[in-house]
Amino acid sequence: IIEVANLSKSYGELNVLKHMTFEVEKKDVVAVIGPSGSGKSTMLRSLIHLEQINGGTIRVTGEALVQDGVYAKPADIKRITSRMGMVFQHFNLFPHLTVRENLELAPRIVKGESADDFRKRSMALLDKVGLSARASEYPAKLSGGQKQRVAIARALMMNPEILLFDEPTSALDPELTGEVMQVMKNLAEEHMTMIVVTHEMGFAREVANRVMFMDKGEIVESGHPQQLFTNPQHERTKAFLNLG
Ligand code: ATP
Ligand code: MG
Repeated sequence: IIEVANLSKSYGELNVLKHMTFEVEKKDVVAVIGPSGSGKSTMLRSLIHLEQINGGTIRVTGEALVQDGVYAKPADIKRITSRMGMVFQHFNLFPHLTVRENLELAPRIVKGESADDFRKRSMALLDKVGLSARASEYPAKLSGGQKQRVAIARALMMNPEILLFDEPTSALDPELTGEVMQVMKNLAEEHMTMIVVTHEMGFAREVANRVMFMDKGEIVESGHPQQLFTNPQHERTKAFLNLG
């Protein structure tokens, strides 16, 4: 569903992503791990065009967002990136809007959907993340875990085919990570395609079907969690996992 080939990105002299090549299949849950500064966020942001890449190809559901460094037309970029939703570390909710308004702001009614269905869908999604009772409250009243669940529901409003998460639990107190992980686990069980940058090795082990280890802008190795965690092939992976 996502094909990346030779993706390169630099900030001035700094080569942050070096010819990254990987594919994500439909229904995959890919956990991306790696040291700070290895380019995990930049990779994720590039997929959804929050960063402009310098070279390489990114295809989403068969259509090129960028082909050999040449971007699609703006209207096509918009259409292609709208197949993906992103959830950030710091929630990025609008503080002056209620929970429900946060869901209903960005996405206008999708094709063939009535205003009524649209509102029903926002409530259904809040229900899915266990927050329908908080629909009329403002984000400031919610815990970090609840805010992040709202952010996930908001991303789902666009009916994305792929969800990207950038350290969704890193800003949370440890006792709040579980509820967010559970929502993500449920999504995985419903076969949502997800790429999750995370430091939660538990999540990577239990929910992901593939773990991708990045270091210095490269994919060092990638494999099934069981294999990668118990029998890493590369010295850098071993060192990162503290086995070496
Ligand atoms: P972390 O685990 O700390 O979130 P990361 O793996 O997500 O790290 P990135 O945020 O992608 O890493 O950053 C990769 C490199 O690019 C780092 O060296 C960072 O300093 C640099 N970088 C990121 N954004 C910018 C920017 N806007 N301008 C210049 N350099 C940047
Ligand atoms: Mg990051």
